[in-house]
Amino acid sequence: MARACIGITTAHNAEQDYYYCRNTYVGGVRQAGGVPLLLPPLTDREAMLSCAGKIDALLLSGGGDLQPFLFGEEPHWKLEEFDPERDDFEIGMLRLMIDLGKPVLGICRGIQVINVALGGTLYQDLAAQQPQSLQHRQGAARRYPTHSVAVRQSSKLAAIVGMDKLQVNSLHHQSIKEPAPGLQVTAWAEDGVIEGVEAPGQHWLLGVQWHPEAMWEHDQAAASLFSALVHAAGA
Ligand code: MN
Repeated sequence: MARACIGITTAHNAEQDYYYCRNTYVGGVRQAGGVPLLLPPLTDREAMLSCAGKIDALLLSGGGDLQPFLFGEEPHWKLEEFDPERDDFEIGMLRLMIDLGKPVLGICRGIQVINVALGGTLYQDLAAQQPQSLQHRQGAARRYPTHSVAVRQSSKLAAIVGMDKLQVNSLHHQSIKEPAPGLQVTAWAEDGVIEGVEAPGQHWLLGVQWHPEAMWEHDQAAASLFSALVHAAGA
């Protein structure tokens, strides 16, 4: 049987001009039985259409900030590096995958891409704009969970992880402010910060604010997200 091909978006190192992706994303897809394909940004729509037609699912990986113009804001002084080429590619690909009904998993920056592409907004810097929030940029190594999230009952996320509360890692300084219309919030940290969203209907479109790719080796819930993506891509 043909194995599901999972396109994984990459980041650009501008200083030395190379594209890169952490090995843990590749490993997460591989251990779940999928074929990882790393995607550099494409700038024209026809190229994106060809790419979306060939992959079975899209994994929007973690990375830098989004351009605030995309959600109608000027740059907050705590905004960090962003890459308009990556923003345009990921938003374009997400829309095509929605049109094609193919599965999408957004991780960290990826959940933010999903939200902004569908009309939602972001906190450009959680610590500055929500100073009472928990620590969401942990000092501990990436593989260690540092805060908990409550999972919405009867969501796709709940069915995948099989739990209503998860311990997750946290390596973000931005987060969803206003969820996009058409997205259901599926996970929250104790301070109310949104940590999960999904499309409520047929389409397999999920975003998580934490980093399951850094945890799948020792965390069943994290591994199950990759398995669910690959399974949905093969269905
Ligand atoms: Mn967090």
